[in-house]
Amino acid sequence: MPHLYGGIEAGGTKFVCAVGSGPAALLAETRFATTTPAETLAQAIAFFEAQQARFGPLAAVGIGSFGPVDPNPASPTFGCITTTPKPGWTQADIVGPVRRALGVPVGFDTDVNSAALGEGRWGAARGLDTFIYLTIGTGIGGGALVGGRPLHGLIHPEMGHMRLPHDWQDDPFPGACPYHGDCWEGLASGPALERRWGRPGADLPPEHPAWALEALYLAHGLANLICAFSPQRLVLGGGVMSQPRLIPRVRAEVPRLLNGYVQSPALQDEIDTYIVPPGLGGQAGVLGALVLAEMAAAEGRRG
Ligand code: ADP
Ligand code: ZN
Repeated sequence: MPHLYGGIEAGGTKFVCAVGSGPAALLAETRFATTTPAETLAQAIAFFEAQQARFGPLAAVGIGSFGPVDPNPASPTFGCITTTPKPGWTQADIVGPVRRALGVPVGFDTDVNSAALGEGRWGAARGLDTFIYLTIGTGIGGGALVGGRPLHGLIHPEMGHMRLPHDWQDDPFPGACPYHGDCWEGLASGPALERRWGRPGADLPPEHPAWALEALYLAHGLANLICAFSPQRLVLGGGVMSQPRLIPRVRAEVPRLLNGYVQSPALQDEIDTYIVPPGLGGQAGVLGALVLAEMAAAEGRRG
C-alpha cells in the first residue's frame, strides 16, 4: 500500500485540495474560493479529516502557495505568506494551522515550485533535473528545479519581476505592476494584456497585434531565463497560454533573440519539445503538492 498524501494548491482566488499518491491514484479532490485565512484553512483541514476517515491516515501534507512566501524551514516565519495586497493574508501562517490540526509533517513551497515538482515527476519535464515551470496568468511566476531540487536561494525566485527591453514608441503602455510598472509581469500578464488593449486576452482575435507583442515579451523573458539558468526545458502554463496561437510564436522568437549564441539543438530543431505546455494541465500545482508532502514525510523519517 503506497503512502497516502494530502496536497493543497493555495491560490489567491481558489484552493485545490487532493488526497492520493499521484495522478493515477487520486482518491479525492475538492476546490473552494479563497476567503479569509482562518475560514479557508479550516475548509482544507475539514476536507483532509473527512478523507482520513474514509481512506486512513495521511503520511504528510504538501502546500504550494501563492506568495510571496517564506519557504525557509529555519525561519520563524516559515510557512507564512509575507507581503500581499490580498486583504487579510499579509503574514498569514499557512503551515501552522494544518500541522497542528492534522499532526503530520507539512511540506511547503511556492505554487510554481510545486507545479515544477509535479511536472518533473509526472508531466512535461519527466526525467529532467534542471528546468523551469512558468505560469502566465493573473501574474507571471516561475519555479526552477535545479539539480532536482526546487531553487530557493535568498527567498525564492521572482522571475515575473525581471526587467525587459520596452520600446515605449512601439508600446506606450506603462505596465501594470504596482512595484515596477513595466517589469515582465507588468507588460505581459493577463491583466496587462487586458489593460493595454481594453479587453481580456480571450476576446482578442488571432490577427490582433496583441499576440505578436505578447510573444515578444514572453520570448524576452525566456531568453533571459535560458541565459541565467540553462534550463533543459521550459514549461509554460497559466490562462494566457491557453491561447493556442501563442506558443508557436514564442518558439519562433526565442532563438531569434538569442541570435545563435546558445548552441543547442533545443534552440533549433528541437524547439517544439523545448518550450512546451504543461503535461498535467491545470493539475500541476496540486499534484506537485503531493510531491512536497512526500518530501516532508521523508524529511520527517530522517529527522
Ligand atoms: P491565476 O493566474 O489567477 O491562477 P489563470 O492562470 O487562469 O489564473 O490566469 C488568469 C488570466 O489569464 C486572466 O488575466 C485572463 O484574462 C487570462 N486568460 C484566460 N484565458 C485566456 C485566453 N484564452 N487568452 C488570453 N488570456 C486568457
Ligand atoms: Zn514587477
